[in-house]
Amino acid sequence: MNGGRPVTSFLIEHQCPQCGAPATLGEADRLLRCGFCRVSSYLWVADFFRYCLPHRAPAGKPIFYYPYWRFKGMLFSCLGKGIDNRFIDVSHQALASPDFPLSVGLRSQTQKLRFAAGLQQGLFLKPAQRFKQVLPLITEQFTAGLRGPILHQAYIGETLSLLYAPFYLEKGLFDAVINEPVRGATAESITPLLGQAEKPHWPLTFIAALCPGCGWELTGDPDALALTCGNCRTAWHAPGGRLEQLQTAWEGGQGEQTVYLPFWRMRADVGQVELNSYADLIRAANLPRVVQAQWEQTPFYFWSPAFKVRPQNLLAMAGHLTLHQPSRSLEAGQPPGRLHGVTMPLAEAEESIKLILAGLLRPRQQRLAELLPGVTVQPRSALLVYLPFREATHELVHDGLQLAVNKNLLRYSRNL
Ligand SMILES: [Zn+2]
Ligand SMILES: [Zn+2]
Repeated sequence: MNGGRPVTSFLIEHQCPQCGAPATLGEADRLLRCGFCRVSSYLWVADFFRYCLPHRAPAGKPIFYYPYWRFKGMLFSCLGKGIDNRFIDVSHQALASPDFPLSVGLRSQTQKLRFAAGLQQGLFLKPAQRFKQVLPLITEQFTAGLRGPILHQAYIGETLSLLYAPFYLEKGLFDAVINEPVRGATAESITPLLGQAEKPHWPLTFIAALCPGCGWELTGDPDALALTCGNCRTAWHAPGGRLEQLQTAWEGGQGEQTVYLPFWRMRADVGQVELNSYADLIRAANLPRVVQAQWEQTPFYFWSPAFKVRPQNLLAMAGHLTLHQPSRSLEAGQPPGRLHGVTMPLAEAEESIKLILAGLLRPRQQRLAELLPGVTVQPRSALLVYLPFREATHELVHDGLQLAVNKNLLRYSRNL
């Protein structure tokens, strides 16, 4: 594991599925616009992506690939007095073996990866440890130092992939990335593993990025999860490998310099805590306000950013919006002007509901311990809402909500 080090982000060499021209993708990129044939394709995979590290083995050496889970995500742990957050960026053996390095380590960061799907040669050792088995070890390692009982833990915005590192045998085991022997490993102990290898067959799905409504080209940032049609002004995503329309709405702008940031506005049943109306929120959060009769009818929503930001900022923003309940009237569809890309899927935003709740409840210490372990969250409905922010020198500001988002923070959050 290599936790605690700066966040890493790989580059992947691939080729345009239309014309075969070479292309380089960022690890989180999904929309590939070919600079050569100008066709846009959207990359989709059912489970997770599988990448290979390049090797520099002497010609003719039979290479085999050893699997590592690669995991990036935010881990939140609710303690009695607050919420601990950390960003985790690790790799871990997907096939337990004392002969291979425990993690991929730093050597992988300067290499350009390839999709394992594209490889014709080499043996691929089959993962024997499912990620579900590895995750508790990672969680334990990163939260062992926390004091007091952990009332709830959640991973948000995580990405999981399988990274294949190349090796070969020559007297002992050789790391084919750096062409150096791995200490202590013998051919005798590794040869039996090679019998469990599998052929690479993990096809990638490329979806034509064309609007199903009108046929126009869909656009978005390379890492966007929502693509937009500039012609019929609709938004699309591909949750199951097919383009589906995404219901969106937006709040009226703040003039020329407006940038729209996307948020998930969610309804959910949260078991033991009544949170259906604005009046319920005032009671749950013990806000110093006298409940007015009409507030019992004002619907309550959970709000969470639909874009990646650092863990502390994610919860702060979600908590702020949920407390303030943006209530200006919304228009259906896509806003005019500049949009910030959607990079946080709805399912991940839903995972934040319990954490948002934990941040709201007052008096905190007593109610968290009492309620949190038993709270179940049942998401009901959601809408992607674009809120208008005025662009200032260093920040994007929503005056009505008294919310300012640092522009650098948004930029640096891209590879989380
Ligand atoms: Zn092309
Ligand atoms: Zn369209």
